[in-house]
Amino acid sequence: MECIHCGNLTRVTNSRSSKSSFSIWRRRQCQSCKEIFTTTEAPDLKASIVVKNIDGTLEPFSPDKVFMSILYSCNHRKSPLDDARALTNTFTKRMMHHINTGIIEKTIIQKICSDILMNFDIASHTYYNAYYVRKKN
Ligand SMILES: [Zn+2]
Repeated sequence: MECIHCGNLTRVTNSRSSKSSFSIWRRRQCQSCKEIFTTTEAPDLKASIVVKNIDGTLEPFSPDKVFMSILYSCNHRKSPLDDARALTNTFTKRMMHHINTGIIEKTIIQKICSDILMNFDIASHTYYNAYYVRKKN
């Protein structure tokens, strides 16, 4: 990867896998200007996973939609953004166990979110089920 400051080549000086998500964190140093910056490598879920809706139509998986549905469900809490980030990581890990062919049913996405919220906060769970599970898409 090129240096974000000067555009010259960089080398990796440190890296580690994230325990909470499918990502690798890397520290890079520019071979020319010696500046240091950090990158994260993660799977492109939008490009890798297709959602099968209840009516049979297909659409690219949207991590943003999952995140937003969880965020809205946590809106009454003290730190909904932090909660939604952590819960979305949990969601992603669980979803990966259900993917064999690159296609996941919408109902499975809803069930995973619903189960996670049930164990987290009953008000969030109730909100999620009222606003997201009964919709067709
Ligand atoms: Zn540089």
